[in-house]
Amino acid sequence: MHQTFLYIVIGILVFDYLFDQFLDYLNSTKRSTILPKELIGIYDEEKYRKSQDYERINYHFSIITSSFSLILILIFLYFSGFALVDEYARTFSSNSIIIALIFFGIILFVSDILQIPFSLYDTFWIEEKFGFNKTTIKTFFLDKIKGWILGAIIGGGILAIVIWFYNKVGTDFWIYAWGIISVFMVFIAMFYTSLIVPLFNRLKPLEEGDLKNEIVSFSTKVGFQLENVFIMDGSKRSTKGNAYFSGLGKRKKIVLFDTLIDKLSKEEIVAVLAHEIGHYNKKHTLTAIISSIIQTGLTLYILSLFIGNPLLSKALGSDNPSFHLGLITFGFLYSPISMVLGLFMNIISRKNEYAADQYATENCKGEFLQSALKTLSIDSLSNLTPHPLYVFFNYSHPTLLERLKYIEKLK
Ligand SMILES: [Zn+2]
Repeated sequence: MHQTFLYIVIGILVFDYLFDQFLDYLNSTKRSTILPKELIGIYDEEKYRKSQDYERINYHFSIITSSFSLILILIFLYFSGFALVDEYARTFSSNSIIIALIFFGIILFVSDILQIPFSLYDTFWIEEKFGFNKTTIKTFFLDKIKGWILGAIIGGGILAIVIWFYNKVGTDFWIYAWGIISVFMVFIAMFYTSLIVPLFNRLKPLEEGDLKNEIVSFSTKVGFQLENVFIMDGSKRSTKGNAYFSGLGKRKKIVLFDTLIDKLSKEEIVAVLAHEIGHYNKKHTLTAIISSIIQTGLTLYILSLFIGNPLLSKALGSDNPSFHLGLITFGFLYSPISMVLGLFMNIISRKNEYAADQYATENCKGEFLQSALKTLSIDSLSNLTPHPLYVFFNYSHPTLLERLKYIEKLK
């Protein structure tokens, strides 16, 4: 029976890989050497050719990285790697929480180290070649170290609490774990920009001047407090421009990347800001948090039905059942469900983007939002003609052409 579990896990991994390859392949069939009709007036010939090169290089690179990951995990499963790491972790302690922390620490740390060469190539070769990279080697490794520490504190903390409840109350642990994780999710959603972002970037309020005056008059008009608008030094890592909204209620914050300020006119920046205020106005963060909480509850409940089954650990080659080994097998088995849930999240997210665009168009001039979106897409060499099936599965935002058409209709 445990063999069957293992075969299902391998089947899921291989299917997942092939499906991603298939979608990437579909996307690649949409590439062209001549400028497509629908992009005339958006891309010029030269920029378009550059965007196609960028696409192609990223496509080939992703085939290499995903194939490497698949081969690695299959070899690891073949040699019962998870059971071996578990045995090793047990030599340090007999406490199930400590064993689990050491186990996940080793697995996640080693897999991250193995990804480093790929990530260096991506940042310092591909992104560099196309003029996007601004990261230094020092920033790159500092980011890694900060990420590890943050992951150890947050991930380790949550894992320890969940196992502690499991040891105390058994199968009912999921209710307590759900409560604690939900509180934590709301906390992070509220304080993400004030606690996590400053570890990686510098945030500053708007400087006095024309842009600030323009933003003040717009914020006053729609009733959004200006103290919540920040400029972030995105240029520390990449030339690509961006903006985002985060937080709830009084903790709401809009962050504009400094790279955005360099590329767009005042009116265009206000249009981008209006789009972000639209997310706030339509309560998109709140609904996203509520749906994440519901999903977490569902996942934990299903986990509670399976986690006590020793076959989950045996599938990975261990006769010593444990929560952490069970969690690994469960994670693999659950991945098709989380893929379907992710699909729904993307559908909702694309709807929200239209709603925020609608808000921006109603409250300031639609053509400024259109020209801002165009500039940002061209500038980051975005793929403007992705395959519709690829968009359906992977895109959290509608494509540029879809958004331009939608705004045009509203105007
Ligand atoms: Zn948006």
